[in-house]
Amino acid sequence: MFVQIDLGDIVRMRKKHPCGSYEWEVVRLGTDVGIVCLGCGRKVLLPRSTFNKRLKTIVKHANAQE
Ligand SMILES: [Zn+2]
Repeated sequence: MFVQIDLGDIVRMRKKHPCGSYEWEVVRLGTDVGIVCLGCGRKVLLPRSTFNKRLKTIVKHANAQE
């Protein structure tokens, strides 16, 4: 399944980070996807395919209209 993500989106992953947070902010898009943990601020780069596998849902779209 293809998932459309944009910079600034908040995403929820299937496995929680060691800090206890499931939610990450997308900070880089490309061959690798850069995400920052909202719990501890750790930045991680994942290959797009790995990111897609670990992604559970998009919590908030950065460009969503109210
Ligand atoms: Zn964390």
